[in-house]
Amino acid sequence: MSYEIVSFYRFVSFSKPDLKKMRAELLQKGEKEQVVGLILLSVEGINATVSGKQGNINNYLRFIEEVTGINDFFYKKSPSAIPAFKKIRVKIKKEIITFRKPGTSASFGFHDLEPDEWESMLNEEQITVLDIRNDYEVEVGQFKRAKNLGLKEFSEFSQKLESADLPKEQKTLLYCTGGIRCEKAIKEMQKQGFKEVYQLKGGILHYLKSFPDKNFEGECFVFDHRVAVDQGLKPSIKYSLCPHCGQAAGERIQCMHCRKQTKICKNCLGKSLDYLMTCTKNCAHHFRLGHQCKKPQKNIS
Ligand SMILES: [Zn+2]
Ligand SMILES: [Zn+2]
Repeated sequence: MSYEIVSFYRFVSFSKPDLKKMRAELLQKGEKEQVVGLILLSVEGINATVSGKQGNINNYLRFIEEVTGINDFFYKKSPSAIPAFKKIRVKIKKEIITFRKPGTSASFGFHDLEPDEWESMLNEEQITVLDIRNDYEVEVGQFKRAKNLGLKEFSEFSQKLESADLPKEQKTLLYCTGGIRCEKAIKEMQKQGFKEVYQLKGGILHYLKSFPDKNFEGECFVFDHRVAVDQGLKPSIKYSLCPHCGQAAGERIQCMHCRKQTKICKNCLGKSLDYLMTCTKNCAHHFRLGHQCKKPQKNIS
């Protein structure tokens, strides 16, 4: 586990001209420190996951603090044997988390629950626990008793929440991967009349640090090469990336073309299409054309 993967965000007003300058500086320093990852910059703030060797990543985080003028980021760290990204990318976006609801500014830590407060509130009876992540994330792991909205993407939240008809008078406990989505969701929920909404500070990633193998079941989907992290925040060994759709693949199959043992996702498996029973898009392509595989076929049973 020689790499460290660090996620953090902050809602803060950046000026447009500053974004370009920041982007150039973050890219240059990232390459120098051999750090990889994805950083989103916008006039509403910064959202980043970066990875590198310990010394390099510390240098880089200090540099980001200097450039942004923010020295109290809330870092969520996890170890990894792989860097989890190919290279460093810094993108300037409209929003640091796509919500497509103008006027929904973030909540700035309003109604945050620390993991231990969250844990004790979970024991109350009259609560709704709401997972606001996408359906393919929920599939990999979620909190006990949690409801979800079956989202394909976060921008569907407002509309799906409205039609879900959840109880508005009782406490609602929101969570997501690292907390950023909750900051926008909580404002929208208040707008829709929810009386008492709380969010899990730092999301599942922060919670698992203090409470592994408790109320969160399964693994936590992440948007990088690890696909998911386990209860100890280590890269998943259960899941790989589905070669056909990019979701978490945990279903063992043998490739219909090259006969290699591989994994695909539940969704693709459920489609019962022969060509999806393959280990790569390339194998799927050749299988559909009826080509014979020219590789040595080791795994034939
Ligand atoms: Zn798939
Ligand atoms: Zn194959």
